[in-house]
Amino acid sequence: MKEFELIKHFFTEQNVKRKDVLLGIGDDCAVVSSAENQSIVVTTDTLVAGVHFPLGTSAKAIGHKAVAVNLSDIAAMGAKPSWISLAITLPEVNNEWLTEFCSGVFELCEYYNVQLIGGDTTQGPLSITITAQGLTPEGKYLSRSGAKPGDWLYVTGELGDAALALQHHKESLIIDSDAAKVIQQKLDYPKPRVLAGETLREYASAAIDISDGLLADLGHICQASNVGANVVLDAVPLSDAMNKSQLFEDAINFALNGGDDYELLFTVSEDNKVGMETALSHAGVPIACIGQMNASQTISTTLNNKAIPINNSGFQHFTTNAITNK
Ligand code: ADP
Ligand code: MG
Repeated sequence: MKEFELIKHFFTEQNVKRKDVLLGIGDDCAVVSSAENQSIVVTTDTLVAGVHFPLGTSAKAIGHKAVAVNLSDIAAMGAKPSWISLAITLPEVNNEWLTEFCSGVFELCEYYNVQLIGGDTTQGPLSITITAQGLTPEGKYLSRSGAKPGDWLYVTGELGDAALALQHHKESLIIDSDAAKVIQQKLDYPKPRVLAGETLREYASAAIDISDGLLADLGHICQASNVGANVVLDAVPLSDAMNKSQLFEDAINFALNGGDDYELLFTVSEDNKVGMETALSHAGVPIACIGQMNASQTISTTLNNKAIPINNSGFQHFTTNAITNK
């Protein structure tokens, strides 16, 4: 199949047809109409085979994840995703693989009414780059830089499962088969917190999505906001699968330093706390308050009300993973 036929066969047909897309796939550029009183947020993320996903990952999971990591960034800005473009480098044209890949891409696009409006197709080692755009009311977006001393620190969902699944790949851990399935699903099919992000736009002072691990991403908020934070380790949410794995202190290491969770980490002022909790509860989004921001410009952690240092070798070990997972 030639490049043009491939694009037509796999990428042009799709169920999402947005009114604001004036020209989709097929010309030199796509054309979208800029909505009045709206800002457009833009992000790009690349997934390279063997770096961002293990080589045996299913084509459908790769398609899903490529879209999900971008929508997660859009969610962290408090925006509603609208359009994506897809630059894909393929070692060969494999119809079965491409069909599966596209089902992963389009299922998530349909769920969020996101239209694929263009891209590029080339031959070489497998790599996928997606650029995503989203919309917010003019100038109203979340960023990393608004946290203030005294703000409460929250996280959505549960942390560490994706990193646990990756580690399980590397050195078969003792994990029961149901739990192993759950964590594999979390690694392969992360759910971007789009609804949470949009809801938080009204309440949060700062937000980020956790792609590199809780501590690393909290560090980004602290740096951008010029504040510090204390994290209450007892409050960090772990899944049943993680709790059942009997990894004890390693579990908290996965939660603090493992990447690929794609949950939202955000800060909320005392005044907005109740409103935010009510709104997210109505939206059905699980959250946990895991600490508080302060003026120290450092990150501290406590367990059972006692301060414990976070720069021990256990954490270092996983820091290396967090970097290669970027
Ligand atoms: P050009 O050479 O002018 O850049 P291409 O031949 O690369 O155009 O692409 C033709 C059309 O197909 C363009 O509209 C482009 O956006 C679209 N396209 C190419 N690859 C993809 C892809 N992987 N996904 C979606 N659209 C694609
Ligand atoms: Mg052209």
